[in-house]
Amino acid sequence: MSIPLLDLKAQYHTLSKEILAAITDVLASGEYVMGGNVRALENSIAQMCEVKHGIGVASGTDALLLSLIALGIGQGDEVITTPYTFFSTAEVISKVQGTPVFVDIDPRTFNLDVKLVEKKITSRTKAILPVHIFGQTADLDELLELCAKYKLQMVEDACQAIGAHYKGRPAGSLGSTGCFSFYPTKNLGGYGDGGMIVTNDDTLADRLRVLRVHGSRQRYYHTVPGYNSRLDEIQAAVLRVKLKYLAQWNEARRARAALYDQLLKESAIETPHVEAWNESVYHLYVVRSKERDRLKSRLAQAGISSGVYYPLPLHLQEVYKALGYQYGDLPEAERTSCEALALPLYPEMTETKVRQVVKVLLES
Ligand SMILES: *Cc1c(COP(=O)(O)O)cnc(C)c1O
Repeated sequence: MSIPLLDLKAQYHTLSKEILAAITDVLASGEYVMGGNVRALENSIAQMCEVKHGIGVASGTDALLLSLIALGIGQGDEVITTPYTFFSTAEVISKVQGTPVFVDIDPRTFNLDVKLVEKKITSRTKAILPVHIFGQTADLDELLELCAKYKLQMVEDACQAIGAHYKGRPAGSLGSTGCFSFYPTKNLGGYGDGGMIVTNDDTLADRLRVLRVHGSRQRYYHTVPGYNSRLDEIQAAVLRVKLKYLAQWNEARRARAALYDQLLKESAIETPHVEAWNESVYHLYVVRSKERDRLKSRLAQAGISSGVYYPLPLHLQEVYKALGYQYGDLPEAERTSCEALALPLYPEMTETKVRQVVKVLLES
């Protein structure tokens, strides 16, 4: 029995009729970019996040990039973030000519260690960009307190955490903006690229809507240089179908995660820690082990895929050599990059398969 890390085809097969019908409707409508489906999806996601505005964009990366631009973050500004994330998070800071300032992580949750943030704040710091890694929100109250104290903005990278909650509040709803990705592997994934920004701020929402279409409010009249970062109708139609199932899929992920937790409890493998006030959506189920590489190859021999997220923390990437970080500067992120292993987890995964993965791990 071979077991993939995730199975996008299984999900498609459960919904193919509905999805094909939605796509066919778009094709027949003649409206292909930023039409009724995009507006409806924006409203649904805003409602789900309990905020006023949803702004569809071309990707999660663009959601982050446009957020920084709309907040006026640019040349020479420092943005505090985590080194333990997908590259986009820091890439967008560099793209606006800002400087990412990396702070080490809490090894139990893989999220920014908020106790270390305050001493990295300088007169150039403009924003904090927490990532809700693997589907669990960062410690937002502590970060919001720092934002208030030092007059900083907060942009939430919620690309892996759509539907997650922090003390009962939706991920993405606490920052100046919250950013989501609809990349196919995400918990709410399209069949191509897509993204969404959510915000409660009317001025910011207006600025973002202008930025995503060439800096224009009225077609062929331009107020600022903007971007082509539109969401298309086919993706939005697909996402509207899938959104109806997101809560149940996230629940299914939590159930499988709970089974892994229980079956691995007595083993030397460290299962992921979720804070009592968090409701994780387990974008990935990531365990820790000093024997990570050996476990990974044993699983592979048994036909089971697993993933290393992330093999090299961002402060040690070649692109950031000039920032001057050394190996040893952010020890928890560095250690985690050698110990973390994502096990197969997706809503359609059977209990038998979870047990099979654990059996191979415990025999290794
Ligand atoms: C996927 C992801 C992004 C980027 O989203 P895209 O839609 O691929 O551009 C940004 N940050 C994190 C944490 C992600 O997982």
